[in-house]
Amino acid sequence: MRIDNTHTHIYLDHNATSPLRPEAITAMQDALSQPLNASSTHHFGRQGRGIIESAREQLAHLTGVPAAQIIFNSGATEGNNTILKHFTQDNDGQNILTSAIEHTSTLIPTPQAKRIPVNTDGIIDLTALEELLKTHKPALTSIMAINNETGTIQPIKEASTLAHKYGSLFHCDGVQAAGRIDLNMQNLGIDFLTLSAHKIGGPQGIGALAIGICGIAPILIHGGGQEKGLRAGTENVAGIAGFGAATKAALADLPTYNEKMRPLQTALEEQLGEIDGLVIHARNTPRAPNTTLFSLPGALSSTMLMALDLDGIAVSNGSACSSGRVEPSHVLKAMGQKDEITNATLRVSTGWNTLPGDIEAFTHSFKKIVNHMQKRKKER
Ligand code: PMP
Repeated sequence: MRIDNTHTHIYLDHNATSPLRPEAITAMQDALSQPLNASSTHHFGRQGRGIIESAREQLAHLTGVPAAQIIFNSGATEGNNTILKHFTQDNDGQNILTSAIEHTSTLIPTPQAKRIPVNTDGIIDLTALEELLKTHKPALTSIMAINNETGTIQPIKEASTLAHKYGSLFHCDGVQAAGRIDLNMQNLGIDFLTLSAHKIGGPQGIGALAIGICGIAPILIHGGGQEKGLRAGTENVAGIAGFGAATKAALADLPTYNEKMRPLQTALEEQLGEIDGLVIHARNTPRAPNTTLFSLPGALSSTMLMALDLDGIAVSNGSACSSGRVEPSHVLKAMGQKDEITNATLRVSTGWNTLPGDIEAFTHSFKKIVNHMQKRKKER
């Protein structure tokens, strides 16, 4: 199937996937132009090995652990499954705590896990976490750094300190946090960190699992001895090359990230604030500057999404991973929101190539759509 490029599109759905950064495209094109199996001993094999090891160095910079503790895999779904299935083993995760707002790749493998509640802003309740740690003495506690729907930044350092105090290892889904906040695993007390390249401008289908000082490296996929036997399968050299290049670019952008993104968020939220009845979720909590989740009670997410799409603007109803299925967001539910709100939600998420004009185009179109909806309501 060919991509239809005939429509101008404004892309404001970076939490679902970010467009490839030019650096990643170049690195991937170079890698794809050669037959690079890194297990081969000949010239091409050595080239492939070199590409993988230099990408691993970039991931080491991002996570603050030695390169030897980075394992490449197919993405965060695999990373989360690798860790959680290891600890779940025969008991469906009774020995695991996760927050109630984790991604489904954490929640589904742990049906029996105890869930840490969140407050109405979607921040985990540290008192409840401590109670659960005391009562259940879990082997593993799993909390994401930044929520993909709301953008809330979780108190990871405080949570990992508590987990360690009660003898639990700490896993963090860092997918939405890479390139947005510092993810130094030692500073944050993270034992296992999962990452996906495509949220920072790398390609889809490639990710990494970083192992902290606990030194335990669970294995999900067995076969050839790739990745020191920790993750079998011929390495996706081009994907890894793109991941490395995107990581390098994201790290270079990190010092000015807030400075660049916050004004876009402020402009967007000022405009949204003018719309009667509109609620911006987690507005006054620590939040990624690229994410705005809001609801307009009385409207339907799907109607608003389609109207915006017709205007050439791509946003989301919250989690791309659950779109297609029209189910209320488990994140908003955990925050105590009713159907009237969860059914009327949109998420705008910006990224490395978003321009102020994109936000202006969105707010212009969205206000027009809201006016139209309100006019039709009155006519009925
Ligand atoms: N965790 C979070 C927080 C995510 O946002 C996503 C992707 N939506 C994943 C895990 C899964 O990543 P992937 O689909 O790349 O495996």
